[in-house]
Amino acid sequence: MLPHTARPLAQSGPIADNDVMNCIALAGGVGGAKLADGLARATDADSLTVIVNTGDDFDLYGLHISPDLDTVMYTLAGMANPETGWGIAGDTWHNFEMLDKYGVAPWFRLGDRDLATHLLRTKMLADGQPLSVVTRELCRRLNVAPRVMPMSDDPVRTVIATEQGLLPFQEYFVRHGWQPVAHAITFEGCDEAEAAPGMLRAIETADTIVICPSNPYLSIDPILSLRGVRDVLLNATAPIIAVTPIIAGEAVKGPAAKLMRELGLEPSAVEVARHYADFVNGFVLDTRDAGLASQIEAMGIGVLITDTLMTTPDDRARLACDVIGFADRLQPEKLGGCKLRQPGA
Ligand code: GDP
Repeated sequence: MLPHTARPLAQSGPIADNDVMNCIALAGGVGGAKLADGLARATDADSLTVIVNTGDDFDLYGLHISPDLDTVMYTLAGMANPETGWGIAGDTWHNFEMLDKYGVAPWFRLGDRDLATHLLRTKMLADGQPLSVVTRELCRRLNVAPRVMPMSDDPVRTVIATEQGLLPFQEYFVRHGWQPVAHAITFEGCDEAEAAPGMLRAIETADTIVICPSNPYLSIDPILSLRGVRDVLLNATAPIIAVTPIIAGEAVKGPAAKLMRELGLEPSAVEVARHYADFVNGFVLDTRDAGLASQIEAMGIGVLITDTLMTTPDDRARLACDVIGFADRLQPEKLGGCKLRQPGA
């Protein structure tokens, strides 16, 4: 395993006893939420901060929908629909059926219980509370222990340039089922938007930073597009570990591999590692891709090879333990990193 050359690791010397061990995870929706849940199970959940993409946010019937925030929140609350990975387990669709009766069934369905989240969020936003405060409050009421933070309180909107013209994210992803060929991705508003309050400081003072196996181009890049985020990652003293969302040349779910092909990139974990190469110290590669390790190590990035497929809650915790153990090995000067708990403890 090679030490990373582009970014210095922390100066030597143990951290003080009274320092809180903080883990930061950057996440999108489904892939991100699964590893965030694993990290919450494997570490002290209340020392975990999950920074979540809001480039997918949009308005429907005047309601503010934050799909990735909700996926992370419901997953951490143990409420997520296990089949879809998004929405609420056991939710019903009566509102959709009624809209259908009116002849205006939307292409984006909201479950009945899920609808309550959007109603409450929209009301709180309309009352003048920023999204980060609204998110904290919703999570508190659902007994979510980790801190869930939208990447920004300001609107940033992911837009995909496709063969059918410019498509706002949800039109591309849900309405068109990510089938249009994509040429480019932009994040409208990212130049004006501020990172969420406390977010840059949280990254700066983290003990471990994890880039979840989320879509690098649609879920992580919007976070990286915000002013100050790349700089703070480049200068972070904590080890930064990215987990591959690509296994054996394919995405586990969603358009990541298809997008890579369309953007002229080889759909492989090596390309994902290259995408993050300027700031990550370690990359978690799936066992099925073990043969690619040397190409990633040649970029000066340490490699951990393990099973990255998270099918069960135990898989999530096991992968999280592997990631945290790897981070600690990359930064032996520091005592601990995040505190490991036994899965299931
Ligand atoms: P979205 O916003 O709901 O699309 O969610 P994310 O961007 O967070 O997650 C989508 C990515 O997660 C896809 O590129 C998947 O390949 C990846 N992914 C989903 N489940 C897993 C898993 O169990 N293991 C790994 N390694 N990647 C996963």
